[in-house]
Amino acid sequence: MHNKDLLKKWDKRYIWHPFTQMKDYMGMEPLVIEKGEGCYLIDIDGNRYIDGVSSLWVLVHGHGKKELIDAIEKQSQILCHSTLLGLANVPSVLLAKKLIDITPRGLSKVFYSDNGSTSVEIALKMAYQYWQQKGEKERKRFISFTNGYHGDTIGSVSIGGIDLFHKVYKPLLFKTYKAPSPYCYRCPLKLERKACGMACIEAFEKVIKTHRDEVCAVVMEPVVQGAAGMIVQPDGFLAKIWKITKENDLLFIADEVATGFGRTGHMFACEKEQMKPDFLCIAKGITGGYLPLAATLTTDEVFSGFLGRFDEFKTFFHGHTYTGNPLACSVAIANIELFKKEKVLEKLKGKITLLRKGLKRFCELSHVGEVRQEGLMVGIELVKNRKTKKPFPPGEKIGQKVIFEARKRGVIIRPLGDVIVLMPPLAINESTLQELLDGAYESIKTVTGD
Ligand SMILES: *Cc1c(COP(=O)(O)O)cnc(C)c1O
Repeated sequence: MHNKDLLKKWDKRYIWHPFTQMKDYMGMEPLVIEKGEGCYLIDIDGNRYIDGVSSLWVLVHGHGKKELIDAIEKQSQILCHSTLLGLANVPSVLLAKKLIDITPRGLSKVFYSDNGSTSVEIALKMAYQYWQQKGEKERKRFISFTNGYHGDTIGSVSIGGIDLFHKVYKPLLFKTYKAPSPYCYRCPLKLERKACGMACIEAFEKVIKTHRDEVCAVVMEPVVQGAAGMIVQPDGFLAKIWKITKENDLLFIADEVATGFGRTGHMFACEKEQMKPDFLCIAKGITGGYLPLAATLTTDEVFSGFLGRFDEFKTFFHGHTYTGNPLACSVAIANIELFKKEKVLEKLKGKITLLRKGLKRFCELSHVGEVRQEGLMVGIELVKNRKTKKPFPPGEKIGQKVIFEARKRGVIIRPLGDVIVLMPPLAINESTLQELLDGAYESIKTVTGD
């Protein structure tokens, strides 16, 4: 057995935690997770918590799932790693076939990497190089959306639209054009949803018309802008944006790192509006939360733009050391097989309804500004004043307070600013889902009052 106090001490002494103000963290008692069981996490002191954000949006079938562990174990006896640079390996081939089968039609090539940021970075580089090699040298820009989040590498930060995360890096970033986010609760165009006629789509069209000859691609998170606070797009928004992009002969990059693998109730969010992207970026749910893996899927049209004589150097000069890792690919295959075997999407319908009903009472709390839900993605936006939508002062750390309160109630969640996120594993059962709702409700009520 390890010494618990020593673990906590060393964590504070040696680890720099991501997206964490370490000055605050070092003044707190760390919560050290030791074990996962189904939809629960267990800390080194033996306390059990519902994994209310799926260990950062990745968990599908729960922790300790036998089929997934077996897949890793079995593959580990055979081959743990071999490079994909000029060589093939068995699981990466089998997974590629599976991915092509389950993703929107038209996607026919799979390029692997290991996290969501790189899956987007790859799509950006491919789109740019595609146009360069077609001789359209002036195309160097991307259109993305305010409030968008596509990862933390410099390319994906360049197309990002969350000032809090991205502003400081501005001098390092390449220039992009931004279209307004469909954040209806705080409409960037200061309109009301009932009467706006989706004016943000016209704004997007204006951006595209003005800049179309210098643009490579449009990048967006289809259906839900996740990291910005689970901003759910109005019905029809995605289909229209895609249609306009295609009418202007530009490429469309769908970042489904968060929405992919059943999160929205569809296997991929693009299906909701029958949209066929030129690039599909997937990561978080791809291995069910067991190993890091990502993929960028694209079309024959894009792929063929990279074919040429060796000394024409149209090669895509990009690849990561662990690209196509056999262990990660094996567990991804097992994850996809479980979707079918356990009828995950069919069973999700009841849970989505339960969640919708359960969220109603949150709207009655006096500091809940808006509750947003799409599938098993939920954002509860807390505000100081409901009438004026005035936010809490950042120094009040209201989101933080709520999640610490939730821990006392056996629930682990993580806020996005003042938005409380619920993202349970797809396999969660209805009684655990109810417990998660109760824990979140009581925590918000305790911190903000009725
Ligand atoms: C999480 C996320 C990313 C980044 O993925 P990482 O694995 O954290 O690099 C990119 N896009 C979206 C939409 C995400 O939610």
